[in-house]
Amino acid sequence: MGLYKLMDSSELRKKLLDFFKEKGHTIIPGAPLIPENDPTVLFTTAGMHPLVPFLLGEKHPAGKRLANVQKCIRTGDIDEVGDDVHLTFFEMLGNWSLGDYFKKEAIEWSFEFLIKWLKIPLGKLAVSCFLGDKDAPKDTESAKIWQGLGISKERIVFLPKKDNWWGPAGKTGPCGPDTEMFFWAPSDAVVPKHFDSEDKRWVEIWNDVLMGYVKNEKEEYLEAPQKNVDTGMGLERVLAVLCGYNNVYDTDLFSLIIKKIEEITEKEYKGENVKAFRIIADHLKAATFILAEGIEPSNIEQGYILRRLIRRAVRYAKQLGVKDIFSFKIAEAVIKIYKNAYPELFKNKDFVYNQLIKEEERFEETLERGLREFKSQTAGLKSKTIPGKIVFDLYQSYGFPLELTKEMAKEERLLIDEAGFNKEFQKHQDISRVGAEQKFKGGLADHSETVTKYHTATHLLLAALRQALGDHVFQKGSNITGERLRFDFSHSSKMTPEEIKKTEEIINKKIKEGLKIEQEEMSLEEAKKQGAMGVFGEKYGKKVKVYTISNFSKEICGGPHVSNTSELGKFKIIKEESSSSGVRRIKAVLK
Ligand code: ATP
Ligand code: MG
Repeated sequence: MGLYKLMDSSELRKKLLDFFKEKGHTIIPGAPLIPENDPTVLFTTAGMHPLVPFLLGEKHPAGKRLANVQKCIRTGDIDEVGDDVHLTFFEMLGNWSLGDYFKKEAIEWSFEFLIKWLKIPLGKLAVSCFLGDKDAPKDTESAKIWQGLGISKERIVFLPKKDNWWGPAGKTGPCGPDTEMFFWAPSDAVVPKHFDSEDKRWVEIWNDVLMGYVKNEKEEYLEAPQKNVDTGMGLERVLAVLCGYNNVYDTDLFSLIIKKIEEITEKEYKGENVKAFRIIADHLKAATFILAEGIEPSNIEQGYILRRLIRRAVRYAKQLGVKDIFSFKIAEAVIKIYKNAYPELFKNKDFVYNQLIKEEERFEETLERGLREFKSQTAGLKSKTIPGKIVFDLYQSYGFPLELTKEMAKEERLLIDEAGFNKEFQKHQDISRVGAEQKFKGGLADHSETVTKYHTATHLLLAALRQALGDHVFQKGSNITGERLRFDFSHSSKMTPEEIKKTEEIINKKIKEGLKIEQEEMSLEEAKKQGAMGVFGEKYGKKVKVYTISNFSKEICGGPHVSNTSELGKFKIIKEESSSSGVRRIKAVLK
């Protein structure tokens, strides 16, 4: 029995949504983990992530007050996993105001929910507010609101931009200070009178971002014409707090998984085993959710992250003495826990289990040989650093993800040459894997100007390819970085130099014509009727956005896009190659 009130995860999800419904919010569905219209990041990292276009001023069909539960993956937190509160997969409960209420309501409602609805003791709460700097003043307004509600002065700290400021998502755009709520986690230690944000026993549970500013091209922070609120609360952390646990693994979102690992390893979840248990539980939970969205382990993009999560978990299990294939059994426990909240897990369970079994088998095949190779390579080393070439060979020939080698090196008191490893990657001209390596660090969508231009260029490219090659051309994938666009499409033969030239010419002509990009919202049926192209099929919600470029291109897409093709410069295809059977890949740049 918890300290305050026994509550399980489904009750907490429901409570938050009920609360914000009562405050006039529309409950919107969570987005998939794999961003639908944003090829610049690998995973959804926060509830606000799928809402960026609306925070930027676009109208949301569900209104100005929204709330939801969002599944998130933060690969950037992977090194923290094993502590009490950081996970790679977690759920974020959030509420938003799109130019509606601001600081006062946001803070008062956070307080009301925590204190009145969840009955968290006021004495265990502390908050942080923005300290102020040359760009924006100290947020005394928020601090005063907290004080008015009963938070004592000693429990409010002011912190600089690196702690208490969000955004903008790209170089320019909405941003602003945030105010964060912390809970004193230990049940056996007296709550200090003063809040010390450096003391890890104060755990951040909720963050209210108060987007009152816009940063412009000149790096000035101006008052925003539309002021937004974006909040995010960690479900696992709050649940632990409510049940009186000092870590998230004791909650009902993990206990079944931990029990399963005890069964499989025939070891107890305590002492020196704790960290390995937690890593196995966290990583295989994340892997289960990624698999359930149809991603397979591979060497690129999300598939590579998935592979790394599975293999790291398997290696920890091996260290605990596990001999047989086991990860699918953990997935069974995960699906049991989440099958009501996330029906896609149960629906895709066979795919999830099969993929886990296959990946474990594949890893098994090379693991022993790889370990031997690692030993022989490191035995003869003169320096304390393993050269990038060796790390890359382990990766390439034995399927050892980077951090696996890093961890094995650490156990031998060695370092790895990560920069050298990355260089080897580049040598092998596998830009996408390096890209995944960078994106692995997580982070928010890049809505910079260049990326926006590439989004629009992608639409022109699809339309031009259909003119140059025929109506059998459909989009099969797309990936955009600040340097180039990559586009996969259905076509079975290598493009001739003439076809490439023709495609470029069509696009550059459309750029010269200075065509307007128009956006309209409509039902999926209507969009299909109008002949709009779309690649994501049933993943779309009921209302979709359609971008039209004169009578040349019409596509269902989430944006963002430039407003006129004349902004794009000159389009050039730098590479045309095979991607997989029947699918070609183009890399192109704007100059
Ligand atoms: P922390 O400083 O603890 O890493 P954060 O500043 O990264 O947290 P936010 O980006 O503000 O957190 O996310 C909002 C909320 O989501 C946090 O208050 C927390 O409750 C939860 N959260 C963030 N990261 C994680 C994680 N890795 N695992 C579990 N919950 C998390
Ligand atoms: Mg963090």
